[in-house]
Amino acid sequence: SGTGRRKPDWLKMRPPSGRRFTDIKETLRDRDLHTVCEEANCPNMGECWSGRNGPGTATFMLMGDRCSRGCNFCDVETGGMEALDPDEPANVADAVAEIGLDYVVLTSVDRDDLPDQGAGHFAETIREIKDRDPGILVEVLIPDFQGEPRLVRKIVDAGPDVIAHNVETVERLQWPVRDRRAGYEQSLSVLEQVSEESDVYTKTSLMLGLGEYDHEIYQTLSDLREADVDIVTLGQYLQPSRSHLDVFEYVHPDAFETWRRVAEEELGFLYCASGPMVRSSYKAGELFVDAVLR
Ligand code: SF4
Ligand code: SF4
Repeated sequence: SGTGRRKPDWLKMRPPSGRRFTDIKETLRDRDLHTVCEEANCPNMGECWSGRNGPGTATFMLMGDRCSRGCNFCDVETGGMEALDPDEPANVADAVAEIGLDYVVLTSVDRDDLPDQGAGHFAETIREIKDRDPGILVEVLIPDFQGEPRLVRKIVDAGPDVIAHNVETVERLQWPVRDRRAGYEQSLSVLEQVSEESDVYTKTSLMLGLGEYDHEIYQTLSDLREADVDIVTLGQYLQPSRSHLDVFEYVHPDAFETWRRVAEEELGFLYCASGPMVRSSYKAGELFVDAVLR
């Protein structure tokens, strides 16, 4: 990669197929592991998993498929929390090694029901992966841990390469979009703490199309830079079902492109992935390597 002979974008969106794709699926099924890629039927799977232009990326979902919170944009089921699987950290690490992924994204439901809100389990999974191969880049997309610094520190100490935490939307729309326990200031403080206490790269995501004004998007991006956030992604909100929040508007691809330029060129983010189909982990490995390690 890096030869300047990349496929034009309009050729890139292909349905996932091929040997490697089925191999990965089998490994995951054998180990009873869950990826957000598959479960959300993410349209980017073909691009992310193959890593055609660099490291392949997949996103693992830790700590079950039920969340202690209920955000109005999210399809994960609320309540009925189950016990943690103590083998999950090792199991995920083995799968990552077996598949030969170069860049792993770990995320989870929120576990407000656990004494450490799942921070220890997250940290253990990072360590298991790095133990097998310190060269594997690990990005974690973490909950806010109710803004508890000692829990955020547990994640930092485990040595991931990127810590992501999503603000999801502009300040005015935090509620009704997010669960009432989440909040703009709290999320900013998590990101700020990571920037202040470590060299780990920080990252966040916003959904557009929820009724936010342009000046609010700009304000949010500025607040994020103020908190020293390195990477931002912007994508279109899509309604998972009729009982979720309505889409306010479908933002035009040109507007996404404008925001990317504002974020990278004016505000100085290391990179901004921005487009209708972009998700937090969109080609995370490839883009991280391009923007940060090259
Ligand atoms: Fe979904 Fe995360 Fe909200 Fe839980 S905290 S409902 S997983 S967005
Ligand atoms: Fe998986 Fe994220 Fe890529 Fe979708 S964008 S395929 S969830 S890594």
